[in-house]
Amino acid sequence: SAISSSDLEKLQVLGHGNGGTVYKVRHKRTSAIYALKVVHGDSDSTTRRQVLREMEILRRTDSANIVQCHGCLEKPSGDIAIVMEYMDLGTLDSLLKSSGTFSEAKLALVARQVLNGLSYLHAHKIIHRDIKPSNLLVNKNMEVKIADFGVSKIMCRTLDACTSYVGTCAYMSPERFDPDTYGGNYNGYASDIWSLGLTLMELYMGHFPFLPAGQRPDWATLMCAICFGEPPSLPDGASNEFRSFVECCLQKESSKRWTAEKLLSHPFLSRDPET
Ligand code: ADP
Ligand code: MG
Repeated sequence: SAISSSDLEKLQVLGHGNGGTVYKVRHKRTSAIYALKVVHGDSDSTTRRQVLREMEILRRTDSANIVQCHGCLEKPSGDIAIVMEYMDLGTLDSLLKSSGTFSEAKLALVARQVLNGLSYLHAHKIIHRDIKPSNLLVNKNMEVKIADFGVSKIMCRTLDACTSYVGTCAYMSPERFDPDTYGGNYNGYASDIWSLGLTLMELYMGHFPFLPAGQRPDWATLMCAICFGEPPSLPDGASNEFRSFVECCLQKESSKRWTAEKLLSHPFLSRDPET
């Protein structure tokens, strides 16, 4: 049966985002724990549009590596809320901060699951457009799931607005800034692969790979580095398989970047976890 907002008791705030708040909630009758993303009725139209798009996408998707939606609520006050499965370890970003950098074996587990989610999305003509550590959720079984579809795009035949500036600048691929130079055969799906490559590097190195540790990103410096610089590479000590995997993700020319499907067969993912 459908969940109604009166069934849910708020336990704590899990995160604040662009216009919305995510709460940990408990279902009063079943005691089940969920995450509830709430956007208030008086929010601006962009915020409302984003949460409605997120609802639409979560309703359509069914993958082990995409956060599961248990229902959507719309109150007479205009408040909109999404009931999601609760991911008890939070985001990869918070895990990096609390437990330190990830080993290659762990990153291979992360990469396989994110790619599984991305290949599902891309096959369903959805581009996430904001893949980064704080939009990837984890639970204690080390299951990794893609969340936050606020700026995602459902492709309908045309390439129209995929070049618009949405998402977090730092993780944006060269062709999103400069489609004429790097977009050869413009392929919006490939921008999610770029963001995945940067995400894995960040989890390995402990800081955003385009910037030295501790430096705060400034938009212009970053854009120059992304468009005019070489793609970042891993420090000494990284294995050849990991290095190769990241290179396949961080091809500046989007048509040379591997697809999610192809990356799923990369040797980095099939290594013996002990080595
Ligand atoms: P925003 O668009 O505001 O960034 P997100 O969907 O990324 O919205 O959620 C914001 C934060 O709330 C996340 O970074 C995470 O810390 C927390 N959060 C979101 N969904 C869940 C969930 N299902 N389980 C646990 N924490 C979550
Ligand atoms: Mg987010």
